[in-house]
Formats: sequence, structure tokens, C-alpha cells
Amino acid sequence: MSARAFCPLCSYGKAKSAFPYETIWAEKKYAYKKCSSCGTTYISPLPSGEELEKIYSFESYHNVFYHEPAAEKYKKSVKTLMQYAGERKTLLDFGCGAGFFLDEAQKSGFICSGTELDHETREKARALCKADIFSFEEMQGTSRKFDIIHMGDVLEHLGDPHKAVEGLKALLEPGGIFFFEGPLQNNLSVVYYFALILKNVKRFFKIDKPAKIPPTHLILTNKNAMIDFFSKRLGLKMKYFRIYETGWPYLSKKPEKATPEWYLKAVVGWAAIFLSLLEPGNNKKLGNRFMAICAE
Ligand SMILES: [Zn+2]
Repeated sequence: MSARAFCPLCSYGKAKSAFPYETIWAEKKYAYKKCSSCGTTYISPLPSGEELEKIYSFESYHNVFYHEPAAEKYKKSVKTLMQYAGERKTLLDFGCGAGFFLDEAQKSGFICSGTELDHETREKARALCKADIFSFEEMQGTSRKFDIIHMGDVLEHLGDPHKAVEGLKALLEPGGIFFFEGPLQNNLSVVYYFALILKNVKRFFKIDKPAKIPPTHLILTNKNAMIDFFSKRLGLKMKYFRIYETGWPYLSKKPEKATPEWYLKAVVGWAAIFLSLLEPGNNKKLGNRFMAICAE
């Protein structure tokens, strides 16, 4: 498997080794490279199709990362979408997971379809929300078009997000909109800088060990790189863009036996949220997630 030669967001060809440096998963080493132009950090090499399948199998991924709070989170997303949807009703959720967003969207009157890679997860989505749920292969064969295409927590999982969104443009009705949301993992955030400093201190004292997490997020990016990807690279018109802070991944559910490390991380997570709330103005810089509504 060869190293990635270009930044997946801006396509620039130069990058340097950067935080979080590397992860080892299933006995394979993946490096993190930071684009010298837009500052996006990306995984290199890309995991193979077979490896990705293992990463995304329901047991190893959705059970760990998506649980009830996803439903709460997506209530806010649907509320935001409602403000910009106008008369648009048909909606495709690309990478719908277990259907939490679709469920909320359906309750608000959208006519919903979803597409999801994993067979078991599709079944779960069908059971939850009664929307039409397709595999990617079924979706490619369809001539259906949609007023709204939602990609929630999806772009960071794609090897080539540019190609994916370009392809989805063909499924958009004239006057349709994209609704993107997801993490900005190396944006200005207390959690990010705390983790970055901690890692570099450990590296300085040579007590650092490589992470052993599956490389699920192939792209870690920032606010400006995300905006430029939508507006410059994809040529979309930005109708709405907002960033906010959740303290992720430091604000996790309290384990039965919480360690001092858990408490410290929780304090850092809350501090991150608090500071982002204090930041004045509508065009905030602090935050670890974004929502964007774009038109062609
Ligand atoms: Zn770049």
C-alpha cells in the first residue's frame, strides 16, 4: 500500500509528519501527515477496502461510537436544516448509520432515504425509522434525485471526499442543498491543544507510545480548510456555516471506576466548551465541530 501523495481536501502535494503522528491497528502502521497548504492532517497510507470493512463492521464501530446521545445531537441538526430547507422535502442521508438523523428528520416532515455501507447497520436503521435504506451499490443504480443530501460525520471517513461529493451532485434536484456536519479535529480547541501538548511532552521525554486505535477518521481538519473545500474546491455556495465545541473525545460517559485521568480530561472538555461559549460574535474560531449548508 503506497503513501498518499495529495491532501484529500485541497489536493496540495506537500505534507509533514504531524500530531497524532501514528496509530497501529491490526498490526499495521498508519502515519498522520499534515498538509503544508491547508493544514489538514490525513492518514497515510489509506486502509484497504478489506481493512475498512473490518473497521466499520457494526460490532467494532457503531456500538462503540454511536449510541443514544446521537439522537439528541441530531435534533439540533434537523432544527438548523429546517431554517434553510424552505419547500425542500425529499432527503437523502448519505452514510446514515443506524438512522438517528433520519428518524429526527422524518419526525419533522422530511421524506427520507438513507444509504449505509454496513449490512447490519442498515437493518438497524430500517427498524428505527422506516425510511428507504439502500446499500451504496443500490444507490448507484438509482435515478432518484433529492432536494437535500445530508452527510453527517461522513467526510472524515472517506478516502476521497472530493470525488464522493462531486458524484452526489448528480443526485441533487435543481435548487437542492447539501447539509454537511462533522468534526474539526485539529481546529482551535482547548481539547485539541491539550492533547497536542501532552503528546509532545511524552515524545520529548521518550515515554510516548503510538496510539492503537483503528484509523476510522482519515482526515483531521480545521475551519478554514473545511470552508475552502466546500466553496473553492467543490464550487458550492455557502448558505450557512457554524462551528461549536463538544469537548469530544474528552467528555465521555463516566465509567464505573473513574480514574484521575478521566476527571482531568472531563475538566479540559468542559473548559473547551466554556471558552467557546465565551467567544463573542457569529463567526467563531473556537470549536471542534461544524455544520454547513451549501447550494450548487
Ligand atoms: Zn490541504
